[in-house]
Amino acid sequence: MTLIMIEYESLKLLNTPFMESYKKSFADTLESGWFILGNNVSTFEQEFAVYNGSNYCAGLASGLDALILALRCFDFPAGSEVIVPSNTYIATILAVYHNNLVPVLVEPDPLTYNIDPSKIEASITAKTKAILVVHLYGKACDMDPIMSIAGQYNLKVVEDCAQSHGAEYKGKKTGTFGDFGAFSFYPTKNLGALGDAGAITTDDKELYEKIKALRNYGSKVKYINKYIGTNSRLDEIQAGFLSVKLKRLNEINSHKRRLASLYQEWLSVDFIKPVVHDDYFDVFHIYTIRHPERDQLRAYLLEHHIKTEIHYPIPPHQQKALEGKFEGFHYPISEEIHQTTLSLPISFCHTEQDIGRIIEVLNQF
Ligand SMILES: *Cc1c(COP(=O)(O)O)cnc(C)c1O
Repeated sequence: MTLIMIEYESLKLLNTPFMESYKKSFADTLESGWFILGNNVSTFEQEFAVYNGSNYCAGLASGLDALILALRCFDFPAGSEVIVPSNTYIATILAVYHNNLVPVLVEPDPLTYNIDPSKIEASITAKTKAILVVHLYGKACDMDPIMSIAGQYNLKVVEDCAQSHGAEYKGKKTGTFGDFGAFSFYPTKNLGALGDAGAITTDDKELYEKIKALRNYGSKVKYINKYIGTNSRLDEIQAGFLSVKLKRLNEINSHKRRLASLYQEWLSVDFIKPVVHDDYFDVFHIYTIRHPERDQLRAYLLEHHIKTEIHYPIPPHQQKALEGKFEGFHYPISEEIHQTTLSLPISFCHTEQDIGRIIEVLNQF
């Protein structure tokens, strides 16, 4: 018997169930002759705001832009500090630098992989202006203590929701706790477009209006420019596709949660599994296990026709791009996670049988 390769993910298979609706949406947009900031974008913005339970949503060109523009809205003085988790994807940290701000890295809780609220206060200085939390792998951060610290020190809170579409903390969706939720719709995310796309959510009308101007050259009224803006608009074609997929986001998330529950139940205790807790509705953008012999484990799985990924192999503070910026600081938890983490297949196109086979192979390692 030849075993079929289990891919980590297939964007083609993932999008197959939506193919007919995408084609119709594309044909309608083409027919409309309107490609930038039209009905598709405003419809998707309203739908996504309703989905999250936030007052406003503004469509943007990418998740990185959503983070950059969210921070830009506050006009912090150059050199102000922003608290960021040390184990995030580098985009979060780049957004801080693109605003001439200084990222201050705080270590994660090794059980949840999210920023450890008990370590935030020690990193606050007179220059700290904001906390940029990341709901990593599809699990919400512990928002109660984070919001209470932010309130106490008068800090803004931006949530990086690139991996957490539909995730909840105590019954409330990510992106609705802080001043802004910043979303990416990169094709592999739980709500993925067929190209680059992003959005912010907020309850604040003024911030929302400012984001809408910033994404469009700083202009709300044509040829009247209020801010030094940029071009970061969600386009009509992608917005149409996103409306198609949003209708089934809950289904995508429940499928991933079901697959995760199989891993949780059947994987041997030799692997460190994600922690699940009643206060959190996790959407498993990524399902990670940890193991001291991660690289051997990965090779072993590949020999058995199972592809995996590593999120992420190098922590931000060890990246060449950020060389010298965190000298004298140590992030042992982050380094430990990066050395031992392995992401297992968990997508809308994987079946329970796939996961069963992966578990069987893993438990024989
Ligand atoms: C994907 C991702 C981003 C960046 O989103 P893009 O749309 O690719 O710009 C930012 N932060 C996190 C945590 C991500 O996973």
